[in-house]
Amino acid sequence: MSKEEPKYVEIDLSPEILNKLDKERDELIEKGAKLQNGEPVKTINDVLTYMLDRYDAYKAQAKAEQKIAEQPKRKEGWWKPELSRKFHYFVDDRSLCRGWLLPNYLEMQEDTGNKEPGKEDCAGCFRKLVKRRQDLGVDKIV
Ligand SMILES: [Zn+2]
Repeated sequence: MSKEEPKYVEIDLSPEILNKLDKERDELIEKGAKLQNGEPVKTINDVLTYMLDRYDAYKAQAKAEQKIAEQPKRKEGWWKPELSRKFHYFVDDRSLCRGWLLPNYLEMQEDTGNKEPGKEDCAGCFRKLVKRRQDLGVDKIV
Protein backbone atom coordinates (compact mmCIF):
# COMPACT_ATOMS: atom_id res chain seq x y z
CA MET A 1 0.00 0.00 0.00
CA SER A 2 1.40 3.37 -0.94
CA LYS A 3 1.59 6.14 1.59
CA GLU A 4 -0.76 8.95 0.77
CA GLU A 5 0.90 12.15 -0.36
CA PRO A 6 -0.25 15.35 1.28
CA LYS A 7 -2.58 17.22 -1.01
CA TYR A 8 -2.24 20.91 -1.68
CA VAL A 9 -5.12 22.89 -2.98
CA GLU A 10 -4.78 26.05 -4.98
CA ILE A 11 -7.12 28.70 -3.72
CA ASP A 12 -8.64 31.32 -5.93
CA LEU A 13 -9.05 34.36 -3.73
CA SER A 14 -12.09 36.40 -4.63
CA PRO A 15 -11.81 40.20 -4.78
CA GLU A 16 -13.99 40.28 -1.67
CA ILE A 17 -11.56 38.15 0.32
CA LEU A 18 -8.58 40.10 -1.01
CA ASN A 19 -10.27 43.30 0.14
CA LYS A 20 -10.80 41.78 3.58
CA LEU A 21 -7.14 40.72 3.75
CA ASP A 22 -6.08 44.24 2.70
CA LYS A 23 -8.19 45.69 5.49
CA GLU A 24 -6.85 43.15 7.97
CA ARG A 25 -3.29 44.04 6.90
CA ASP A 26 -3.87 47.77 7.40
CA GLU A 27 -5.29 47.10 10.85
CA LEU A 28 -2.48 44.76 11.84
CA ILE A 29 0.09 47.33 10.68
CA GLU A 30 -1.71 50.05 12.61
CA LYS A 31 -1.76 47.78 15.67
CA GLY A 32 1.97 47.07 15.24
CA ALA A 33 1.30 43.32 15.06
CA LYS A 34 4.37 41.11 14.94
CA LEU A 35 4.97 37.64 13.58
CA GLN A 36 6.37 34.88 15.80
CA ASN A 37 9.86 35.67 14.47
CA GLY A 38 9.48 39.24 15.74
CA GLU A 39 9.14 40.80 12.29
CA PRO A 40 6.31 43.30 11.86
CA VAL A 41 3.36 42.42 9.63
CA LYS A 42 3.77 44.19 6.27
CA THR A 43 2.48 42.11 3.38
CA ILE A 44 -0.59 39.98 2.66
CA ASN A 45 1.69 36.97 3.04
CA ASP A 46 2.55 38.23 6.54
CA VAL A 47 -1.16 38.57 7.29
CA LEU A 48 -1.70 34.92 6.38
CA THR A 49 1.34 33.89 8.43
CA TYR A 50 0.03 35.93 11.34
CA MET A 51 -3.34 34.22 11.06
CA LEU A 52 -1.66 30.81 10.93
CA ASP A 53 0.47 31.73 13.97
CA ARG A 54 -2.74 32.49 15.77
CA TYR A 55 -4.66 29.66 14.17
CA ASP A 56 -6.25 28.49 17.42
CA ALA A 57 -7.48 31.99 18.20
CA TYR A 58 -8.88 32.42 14.68
CA LYS A 59 -10.47 28.98 14.87
CA ALA A 60 -12.05 29.86 18.22
CA GLN A 61 -13.39 33.04 16.65
CA ALA A 62 -14.80 31.16 13.69
CA LYS A 63 -16.48 28.75 16.11
CA ALA A 64 -17.89 31.66 18.09
CA GLU A 65 -19.14 33.19 14.85
CA GLN A 66 -20.92 29.97 14.00
CA LYS A 67 -22.42 29.76 17.48
CA ILE A 68 -23.70 33.32 17.58
CA ALA A 69 -25.36 33.07 14.18
CA GLU A 70 -28.71 32.16 15.75
CA GLN A 71 -28.26 34.03 19.01
CA PRO A 72 -30.35 37.05 19.93
CA LYS A 73 -28.18 40.09 19.52
CA ARG A 74 -27.45 42.84 21.97
CA LYS A 75 -26.64 45.83 19.86
CA GLU A 76 -23.39 46.53 21.70
CA GLY A 77 -21.70 46.04 25.05
CA TRP A 78 -18.83 44.71 27.14
CA TRP A 79 -17.52 41.22 26.68
CA LYS A 80 -14.37 39.40 27.80
CA PRO A 81 -12.87 37.19 25.10
CA GLU A 82 -11.50 33.88 26.35
CA LEU A 83 -7.97 34.90 25.34
CA SER A 84 -8.14 38.35 26.94
CA ARG A 85 -7.67 39.45 30.54
CA LYS A 86 -9.78 42.52 29.92
CA PHE A 87 -13.35 43.25 29.00
CA HIS A 88 -13.69 44.99 25.64
CA TYR A 89 -16.58 47.07 24.34
CA PHE A 90 -18.07 45.72 21.11
CA VAL A 91 -19.98 47.58 18.44
CA ASP A 92 -20.89 45.89 15.15
CA ASP A 93 -19.03 42.65 15.98
CA ARG A 94 -15.76 44.46 16.73
CA SER A 95 -14.17 45.94 19.84
CA LEU A 96 -13.73 49.71 19.91
CA CYS A 97 -9.96 49.22 20.41
CA ARG A 98 -10.09 47.19 17.12
CA GLY A 99 -8.22 44.27 18.68
CA TRP A 100 -11.07 41.80 18.98
CA LEU A 101 -13.80 40.35 16.81
CA LEU A 102 -17.07 38.52 17.18
CA PRO A 103 -18.28 38.75 20.76
CA ASN A 104 -20.54 36.19 22.37
CA TYR A 105 -23.75 38.18 22.41
CA LEU A 106 -25.27 36.02 25.13
CA GLU A 107 -22.51 37.02 27.55
CA MET A 108 -22.43 40.66 26.52
CA GLN A 109 -23.06 43.24 29.23
CA GLU A 110 -24.43 46.69 28.69
CA ASP A 111 -22.60 49.95 29.36
CA THR A 112 -22.53 50.70 33.11
CA GLY A 113 -22.26 54.45 32.63
CA ASN A 114 -19.15 54.51 34.83
CA LYS A 115 -16.99 57.60 34.43
CA GLU A 116 -13.72 55.78 35.17
CA PRO A 117 -12.60 52.47 33.69
CA GLY A 118 -12.72 49.45 35.97
CA LYS A 119 -9.58 47.38 36.56
CA GLU A 120 -10.79 44.77 34.09
CA ASP A 121 -11.86 47.22 31.37
CA CYS A 122 -9.71 47.71 28.29
CA ALA A 123 -8.46 51.32 28.49
CA GLY A 124 -8.64 51.82 24.71
CA CYS A 125 -12.23 50.61 24.54
CA PHE A 126 -13.20 52.71 27.56
CA ARG A 127 -11.73 55.88 26.06
CA LYS A 128 -13.64 55.35 22.83
CA LEU A 129 -16.81 54.43 24.73
CA VAL A 130 -16.68 57.77 26.57
CA LYS A 131 -16.35 59.49 23.19
CA ARG A 132 -19.23 57.41 21.84
CA ARG A 133 -21.46 58.48 24.74
CA GLN A 134 -20.59 62.11 23.97
CA ASP A 135 -21.32 61.64 20.27
CA LEU A 136 -24.68 60.06 21.12
CA GLY A 137 -25.37 62.70 23.78
CA VAL A 138 -26.01 60.18 26.57
CA ASP A 139 -24.41 59.34 29.95
CA LYS A 140 -24.96 55.65 29.42
CA ILE A 141 -25.66 53.56 26.34
CA VAL A 142 -28.59 51.19 26.81
ZN1 LIG B 1 -10.57 46.87 23.91
